[in-house]
Amino acid sequence: MMITFGPVPSRRLGYSLGINHIPPKHCTYACVYCQVGQTTTMEITRREFYPVAQIVNEVEQAITRAAEFGRTIDFLTLVPDGEPTLDLNLGILIRELKKFLIPVAVITNSSLIDRPDVQDELMLADWVSVKVDTLEENSWRKINRPHHSLSLIAILNGILSFRQKFTGELVTETMLVSGINDNENTIRMLTGFLTELQPFKSYLSIPTRPPVESWVRPPDAETLQLLLEVIERRCTFFDLLFESEGDDFVSTGNLVEDILGITAVHPLRESALRKLVEEVDGDWNLIESLIMTEQLFRLTYRGDHFYTRRSSQRV
Ligand code: SF4
Repeated sequence: MMITFGPVPSRRLGYSLGINHIPPKHCTYACVYCQVGQTTTMEITRREFYPVAQIVNEVEQAITRAAEFGRTIDFLTLVPDGEPTLDLNLGILIRELKKFLIPVAVITNSSLIDRPDVQDELMLADWVSVKVDTLEENSWRKINRPHHSLSLIAILNGILSFRQKFTGELVTETMLVSGINDNENTIRMLTGFLTELQPFKSYLSIPTRPPVESWVRPPDAETLQLLLEVIERRCTFFDLLFESEGDDFVSTGNLVEDILGITAVHPLRESALRKLVEEVDGDWNLIESLIMTEQLFRLTYRGDHFYTRRSSQRV
């Protein structure tokens, strides 16, 4: 199995070389929206999966290949098909990766961050993303389906104490799932916690790729707009991570079908939608009529417009 992938363009990290140092699907969670698949091995005991030398060797080869093709790598990103902090060698691995003089990022579900050893090792990274989907025990159990011995309070306190020590960039990521954590009260609690945490950025996502549970839906458009307004009033450091840039656009020759197809899966930023319309010499009035006929919904966040299907049903 290839341990590295990319470099791939990433909204948050520029060109990122992904490092998959945990085989699928060893995780402390079994999130309902996971895109990797069902958690086959739910565990919380840290252990070795691949020898550090093997991972580092593959990374070195990927860096050499990228250099040969003139491709930039802005970050080496630990983003495995499982939970990265389960790797007992995480600290040694990050130290070794830093020898390539490229910043190291870790995307963790934060479930083990109350452990001093995990905190010490994550401190070695330059950029760490922690998952905070909810502050409520019930919805945490529904959305993240954690290992039975984990504690949400311990995790939240762990994130706060890590923040005090970490000198790199700490960001948070929240996935909104319809009917679980997309109510106003949950978002108020979340923004209260994040205001105390003061991360560099907080990112909001919605399920856009096929999730492990087929019933998982993003919040409907009106709910999403309401939540964005609550967030906008309370936090300045939120950013949206859910829109398509239109790169997955394949014209079928029918602009309406194309737009409704894309926006059913990913909201589109207005600039990307205008580009799509212009590419086929279309008329922007078509978009206005889709909004008037309630097929399309215009979301507004911090002055930017995003277009999404009115119904959260996928096509
Ligand atoms: S923490 Fe990540 S890898 Fe684990 S189940 Fe959740 S989404 Fe999937």
